[in-house]
Amino acid sequence: VPETVGQAVIPLVNSLQDIIARLDGDAAAGLELPQVAAVGGQSSGKSSVLEALVGRDFLPRGPDICTRRPLVLQLVRHSAPEEWGEFLHLPGRRFHDFEQIKREIQLETDKEAGDNKGVSEKQIRLKIFSPNVLDITLVDLPGITRVPVGDQPSDIESRIRTLIMQYIKHPSCIILAVSPANADLANSDALQLARLADPDGSRTIGVITKLDIMDRGTDARNFLMGNVIPLTLGYVGVVNRSQEDINFNRSVKDALAFEEKFFSTLPAYRGLAHCCGVPLLAKKLNMILLKHITDMLPGLKTRINAQLVAVAKEHAAYGDTVESTAGQGVKLLNILRKYCEAFSSMVEGKNRVSTDK
Ligand code: GDP
Ligand code: MG
Repeated sequence: VPETVGQAVIPLVNSLQDIIARLDGDAAAGLELPQVAAVGGQSSGKSSVLEALVGRDFLPRGPDICTRRPLVLQLVRHSAPEEWGEFLHLPGRRFHDFEQIKREIQLETDKEAGDNKGVSEKQIRLKIFSPNVLDITLVDLPGITRVPVGDQPSDIESRIRTLIMQYIKHPSCIILAVSPANADLANSDALQLARLADPDGSRTIGVITKLDIMDRGTDARNFLMGNVIPLTLGYVGVVNRSQEDINFNRSVKDALAFEEKFFSTLPAYRGLAHCCGVPLLAKKLNMILLKHITDMLPGLKTRINAQLVAVAKEHAAYGDTVESTAGQGVKLLNILRKYCEAFSSMVEGKNRVSTDK
């Protein structure tokens, strides 16, 4: 996959969202871009993977239960160089310090779920504005745990499973099924839940973390190649920061460099470049998004046309007195339709490029 495909998807997604934002509520319903949700057992590395995808340090991570409320993370691409975060519960307040974002997530978690390991299904919504991201929504979910600790109720496991299912059951949700390489894949909570929500595996990417701390003499080659549990969209192996790296404040950038070195030097992963590393995971997600956008274009066109007809009818019924507003509506929708056509030929062009290879 050429580097440019990932970049090309950003303007496509932006154009699409411009179109959707201008449609009536009804016409825009069901046209949302897919959300990407990370699921798996507690401490499997879900928050670490999402952070690596965003390229910034801001999620509470650790060996204990850290993610105790669903975090809905909307990435918003803008052209200014600054990056900042904004919480729905603190409108108008810009967090330029990502360390402070992490603290606010922790405070908000304690507020709703208590400070003794409780879990709440009430979302925290955070927008990250940055020139370096794709307009996409990532969801960080509490991990599956079995033995209740602290304030957790006795049925904690089934509660968390139900909570996760609420997100991943939607046919448009892309599931990152995160499993640590230092446990048997056949015991993976992530793959078990993903299979329930997405039986044919058309929207599940397997992510294998902790390749750096596997038992000596073992490697994840067979996992990654799909020889243990096959997955339609395959697996990506990643190396995130260890707890020690977190304690010593190692940066995301250093972590990516370490990961690259890890895969290029270990003989076990030779020839597996197509399924190793966070940059590859990002690329894979971009390809899935591109396909999703292409798939929803015909429906979008139909809805825009329906709106065009409705506005034109309204215009005819009211006569010239409301010509200004209705006329503007027609004009706007005409522009949208052209936009949409240009857009779809762009996507078709893109597909041709990638299938020509
Ligand atoms: P979550 O509970 O699934 O969100 O997991 P976290 O992202 O909070 O990670 C749990 C712990 O595992 C943290 O201490 C991380 O530093 C550590 N961890 C996650 N991924 C890796 C990895 O690839 N390698 C190593 N060595 N540690 C990791
Ligand atoms: Mg977490």
